Amino acid sequence: MEGKQDILSLSSEEVQQAVQALGQPHYRAQQILQWLHRGVKSFDEMTDLPKALRELLAERFYIVNLRMLDKRTSRAGDATKYLFLLEDGNTIESVVMRYNYGNSLCLSTQVGCRMGCKFCASTIGGLVRNLSAGEMLAQVIEVNSDLENSGERRVGNIVLMGIGEPLDNYDNTVKFIKMVHYPQGLNMSYRRITLSTCGLVPKMMDLAEEGLPITLSVSLHAPNDELRKLIMPVASAYSIDEIFKASRYYFKKTGRRVTFEYALISDLNDRERDAIELARKLRGFPCHVNIIPLNVVRGVGYKRSSPAVVERFVSVLKSQGIAVTKRRELGLDIEGACGQLRRSYIKQAEVER
Ligand code: SF4
Repeated sequence: MEGKQDILSLSSEEVQQAVQALGQPHYRAQQILQWLHRGVKSFDEMTDLPKALRELLAERFYIVNLRMLDKRTSRAGDATKYLFLLEDGNTIESVVMRYNYGNSLCLSTQVGCRMGCKFCASTIGGLVRNLSAGEMLAQVIEVNSDLENSGERRVGNIVLMGIGEPLDNYDNTVKFIKMVHYPQGLNMSYRRITLSTCGLVPKMMDLAEEGLPITLSVSLHAPNDELRKLIMPVASAYSIDEIFKASRYYFKKTGRRVTFEYALISDLNDRERDAIELARKLRGFPCHVNIIPLNVVRGVGYKRSSPAVVERFVSVLKSQGIAVTKRRELGLDIEGACGQLRRSYIKQAEVER
């Protein structure tokens, strides 16, 4: 791989340029992209390309390879978590969630995360590195192959909500989103892609400028800055007011309502007065609130709210006219929260060393 370029991280325009530079007709780029998105592991498998071109491609490029280290399906069969090994020995997670409307893939955008949210397993150990656009695309391709091998439907929706903060790896994430939309490849509609951020305001503004009609989901988790700072260090950099301003701008540029994620933590942000304060701030705002029962991470002291408290919180928001849903819980028995399976693997590797 030394001196070679990662072809899966190239945009369709960049593949076109590479093909032109090799003196090939432009339709070769489309053929190459179709093979890549179908999941071939080597240029030799691209059987409709001349042998000389396949050899030339293999001399200059490599195809990102993710090795599946572990795969766990929940007892209910509603979620499958994959642990993938990257070529440099790092690991990432991807999770398939099965809904009536199709299979959703939650994928990782970084190895680790530097945002430090107190309730999250992905940030323990900090950020190791960004994923390339090709490493994000490879997660979709690998999971699609696995689903097809078991006779299941391919990935129909993508949520950038796994390990990492997507907007902290902005260029690669936006490149990936455009690549997965490539009509002759995976052809994923922008409307079926959701990007989740902890609220990096300047990058939210940049994303609005891209004008991609994807869903933007912001992890709010508190009705005011004081409370938010207790659980999310990013709150010291950007206030809730700034997040709302950027969210309104996003709506103006894309026409897409922003979703606010709110994980209920027992006796911290789940009181009736928290719901009332949140509702007051969101009234008249073109948004949607998604209530998430907390995914408890071992070794982190937070507890999830009781079902009765969750119901009370939801009904207060509804009574104030806020569009609110409760996220269905999937895969709790497979270390469902992002980063937990990777943590278990790293700990196990440390014990064995
Ligand atoms: S919740 Fe998201 S942004 Fe926060 S630490 Fe975890 S991965 Fe990073």
